[in-house]
Amino acid sequence: MDSKRIKDFGILLGHMNENLTVSTDVVVRKARNGMGVFANRSFSDDEKIFEVKGTLVTGDIDEDLSDRVRDNLIRYDEDRYISPEGELGVYINHSCLPNSAIRKEGNKLILVSISPISSGEEIVMDYSAITGDDDIWELVCNCGEKNCRGIIKNFGSLPKMLRKDYIARKIVPGYVWEL
Ligand SMILES: [Zn+2]
Repeated sequence: MDSKRIKDFGILLGHMNENLTVSTDVVVRKARNGMGVFANRSFSDDEKIFEVKGTLVTGDIDEDLSDRVRDNLIRYDEDRYISPEGELGVYINHSCLPNSAIRKEGNKLILVSISPISSGEEIVMDYSAITGDDDIWELVCNCGEKNCRGIIKNFGSLPKMLRKDYIARKIVPGYVWEL
């Protein structure tokens, strides 16, 4: 694959003032960084939170996508991404200590809990787990966790132990770590 995704540093800034109750499961509201997705009930470990929907794009440089849209792309397979613009997935923030992850089930991307999540807790994932080694992208992180990596890049940039842990715990989809 020779297509490269160029993503500019940026954080999606929220523009909504009120809580957006999306379902009995989740609510979108102001978070540490812009808007975020919060649990509207408690989740146990390994539970489906929601399907990450959007438009399939190639992410190629010549594809007509704004920087903001590029910044929010979620890897879908070897050659494509889901753009969650206008969908819930656009509000999932990164954390270096994630409580959720994306798993592929058939042709769907499903956000699942990877630890118990309390009602009211922000649902966060590790963006490196959906960023392949051929993706050119980085984000300055201020998630505030003790293990914060500071600069977030593709999956291959993670320490080897963390990569092994993510693969074993199915935090990273196969189509990302096999790239
Ligand atoms: Zn961090």
